Formats: sequence, C-alpha cells, structure tokens
Amino acid sequence: MALRTAEEYKAGLRDNRNVFILGQKVPDVTEDPYIKVGVETAAFDFLMGHDEKLQEIAVMKDPETGEPISTYFEIPDYPEAVGKRHELIKSACYFAEGALPFVKDVGTDIINGLTAVTKIMGNEDYIKRINDYRWHCARNDLSMAGLVTDVKGDRSKGPGDQKTPDYYLRVVDETENEIVVSGAKAHITAGPYVDEFMVIPTRNMKEGEGDYAVAFAIPANTKGITQICRPNFRYDDKYHFPTPKPKRGHVESLVFFDNVKVPKERVFMLREWQFAQYVAYAFSAFHRYTAVTYKIPILEYMTGLGMLVAEANGVAKTSNVRERFIDMIKYTETTKALAMAAYSNPEDFGNSGLYVANRLNSNMAKLHFASNFHEFVRDIQDIAGGLLVTQPTYQDWKHEELHPYLEKYMGGAGNYNAEERLKLMSMLHHMVASDFAGWHEVCTIHGEGSFAAQKMMLFAEAPMDMYKDKAKEVLGLNV
Ligand SMILES: Cc1cc2nc3c(=O)[nH]c(=O)nc-3n(C[C@H](O)[C@H](O)[C@H](O)COP(=O)(O)OP(=O)(O)OC[C@H]3O[C@@H](n4cnc5c(N)ncnc54)[C@H](O)[C@@H]3O)c2cc1C
Repeated sequence: MALRTAEEYKAGLRDNRNVFILGQKVPDVTEDPYIKVGVETAAFDFLMGHDEKLQEIAVMKDPETGEPISTYFEIPDYPEAVGKRHELIKSACYFAEGALPFVKDVGTDIINGLTAVTKIMGNEDYIKRINDYRWHCARNDLSMAGLVTDVKGDRSKGPGDQKTPDYYLRVVDETENEIVVSGAKAHITAGPYVDEFMVIPTRNMKEGEGDYAVAFAIPANTKGITQICRPNFRYDDKYHFPTPKPKRGHVESLVFFDNVKVPKERVFMLREWQFAQYVAYAFSAFHRYTAVTYKIPILEYMTGLGMLVAEANGVAKTSNVRERFIDMIKYTETTKALAMAAYSNPEDFGNSGLYVANRLNSNMAKLHFASNFHEFVRDIQDIAGGLLVTQPTYQDWKHEELHPYLEKYMGGAGNYNAEERLKLMSMLHHMVASDFAGWHEVCTIHGEGSFAAQKMMLFAEAPMDMYKDKAKEVLGLNV
C-alpha cells in the first residue's frame, strides 16, 4: 500500500472500536464533536505526504521496495538522522497549524527505543519482530499511540506489591503462539483515533515481576480493549470567534485491557524484567526530544499572541510590558537553543547503532520548558488584561442589538478594529484562560514525563566527574 490519504486514514478508524465519551459509546470517532478535533489534527500526518512542498522531508523510499513511505519510519542509524527528524516534526507542527499531529512520532519513538534495546539484549527473535513491525506499519501507513503509563495504584510500591495485581498491565496467560494481557494504561494521547497501540513498561521491575515486563503491539480495535475519553474542546463551541485556521488539539484516553490476546510475532519483550526500565528509558531518550521539538512552534505562536494583544491594547512600547516581552523571548529562544544543541550533538544510544539527540541537552530543554511555562502564561495574562475572561462571546458579537455597542467600545488602541481585537482575545482565552489552557499547563508538566523523570536523566547524563575533576585540578587535590 502507498501512502494513505487523510480520508483513507479516517475510514480506517471506522472499525467498531470500543470507545466511550461522557458515558456514551462512540459509534464513529471521526464524527464525535470532541474526538473529531483530534482526528482532524492527526490527519495532517497523512496530508503531509501528499503536499508538494513537504514531500522531500516527509516521504522516503522504502529501502526494499522503493515505494514511497513516511519518513517517520526511517531507522536513525546515522547521526544526521536526528536533525532530519527535528525538521520533520517541526514542519509537521507548522503544517498542522500549531499542533503536533502525534500519530506517527510517538509510535516510531517506541519502535526506535525497542530496536535499540532488543539489539543491546542480543535477542534475535525480538530484533526480527520489531524490524518486521516497523516495515508493516510503514508499508500500511499506520498510525500509532504509545501506551506507557500504567494506572500505578500506590506510587510508593512496585507492580508486584500492589493491592490489585492489575494496577500495572501484565501477562495473565500464555500459549505457544500468543500471550493474554490484562491491565490499564492511562492518559493515552490520540488513543481513540490510531490504528495501533504500542505497549511498553513504564518503570523498573524486580525479580518476581516478570509478568509485568512485557512490550507488544496490537490493533486498537482488538477484542477486550475499551477506551474512555475525556472531552477536551470542540469546534462548535458558542464562545469563540471563528478563525480561518481551526484550533488544533488532542484527546487522551484511559485504556482497559481485559484478557486481550496478543500474537507472539507482535511481542517484543516477555518477562525479561532486568530490561523493563531500560525500555522505558530508551523510549524516553527518543521521545523527550520529540516533545521539545514540537513545543517550539507553540511557544513562538503564543509569544506572538502576547505581542499582538499588547499592540491592540496600546501598551506594546511601555517599559513594564517590554520587560514581559523580554521574559517571553528569553523563554522561547532558550527552549529553542537547547533543542538545537540536542540535535547538533547526537549520540549512539548504548552502542546500538541508533542515534538519539543528546540526552543531557534534550532533558534540559524539556525541564526548562516545563519549569517556566506557567510564568510565561502569567506574563501573557498580565499583558492581556481582564477581558481575557470577561470578553463578550461570538454570539453577542453577532446579535443585532449588541453589535453596535461592541463595535463602539471594544476597539482598544485602534490599530486593530473591534472584531479583530475580540478575535485575538478569544484565541488568547482559548490558549491561556480556558479549560484547554488548564489542560495545557498540566500537559506541560506531566506529558512526556514529569519533572522527576527529567531530573533523573540529568543526573544520569551530566558529566559530573568532569566537573569535579576541574575543581580538583585547581585545588591540587588528588584526581
Ligand atoms: C496531557 C497528557 C498526555 C499524556 N500522554 C501520554 C501518552 O500518550 N502515553 C503515555 O503512556 N502517557 C501519557 N501521559 C502520561 C504522563 O507520562 C504521566 O502523566 C507522567 O509520567 C506522570 O505520571 P502520573 O500521571 O501517573 O503521575 P504520578 O506518577 O502520580 O506523579 C505525580 C507526582 O508524584 C511523584 N511520584 C510518583 N511516584 C513517585 C515515587 N515512587 N517516589 C517519589 N515521587 C513519586 C512524581 O514525581 C510527581 O511529582 C500523558 C499525560 C498528560 C498529562
């Protein structure tokens, strides 16, 4: 099969998957008013391959058949592949009007992580299976979600010590050709609108916890899988002013596995508990860099919105607002610079022959991004003023009796007319003062791993001996 179109991708989602939202079963995820936002955002991953300007970056030749396939599936077995992927993800975000389409990057980050770890393990069966799976997804142009985070129960205890044995997903049965798994994975971005689920462990395991050390792939509509989605936002809301480019975003799901059968050719790790943490770590090494890359267009866009609202309010040149601008620029450009440093210094992951962005730099970038985002939002909220939350809605704007008042009073500094200023305020409300904005703030902290995950990687990767040696040298201490 060649590269699919967006319509073919959507048609593939009408497969009787068991998805719920607001307590109702969803008959067609492409038509649900909330999930549709995610489907339309994800569809950009399929539009890209057909866009003339992007083909060079988004499409490559299948090394065996010569057919066009998505570049996401490329094996990063040379250092420059890391920079190419940076450009691919960034271009995808600009193309998708500010959001990451998300249904090919996380899955291929897991494929790359598993490829590296199975090589390090030296397990030829697993190496072949993950390689076959990579090309199966590439040749069928499939979309994927990454299912890593378990529901965990008591965080102070490991999988084997929980009150409920299924708090971490586990193998409950095994035959010659398949395994059977039960458990739940939480917060799964794009879960309701992908073809495939890629499941890996979320943490380290100890002896006796082998059943929890399992990695596999499975179609999202497999019997025994149920998803509950949390509504995010919908296009047909009554508040916001329409814009030529619709808002983009994603929907997460809580995914239950109830005695789900997985064929062994799709199992990439089974009971090797010593490697569970390494799989999670390898995925993070690949995925954290994806995360910081896709934040860049969002930060640029939000910085621009903050500057425009200052102009609309006539405060763009005041010293207090310029201070805010400086902080916003510093934040956005430092995140960009750290991301660039990460891809400029790629590393061979564990001598596997697969290249990742520099782990110290990419974790610094993610930590910097997540640690300062709330202040960045605060600065935009400060510049915009109270209208951010009290602004009249689009319904009011369209009302015959109200419209003249709004025309007269909502004009601001005069460089934008009342409609333009309200449209700007409306978009800012969405970005920094809505339910979605709250989601975004939490996503910034926890999505792609919370602060502790980045700090652990910083400790693991920082050249601490080098720092100490430098100090010892100056002091004349024995090195
Ligand atoms: C919008 C969004 C999208 C996401 N998308 C995905 C996805 O697509 N796929 C996926 O697999 N996951 C996804 N995640 C999950 C994300 O990776 C997790 O939320 C994150 O790793 C934190 O895990 P948690 O939510 O269980 O919080 P917790 O682990 O409960 O963390 C809460 C706090 O407790 C601390 N803590 C937890 N355990 C310990 C401990 N043992 N000792 C000390 N402190 C501890 C943490 O450091 C943190 O400060 C997403 C999350 C969000 C918010």
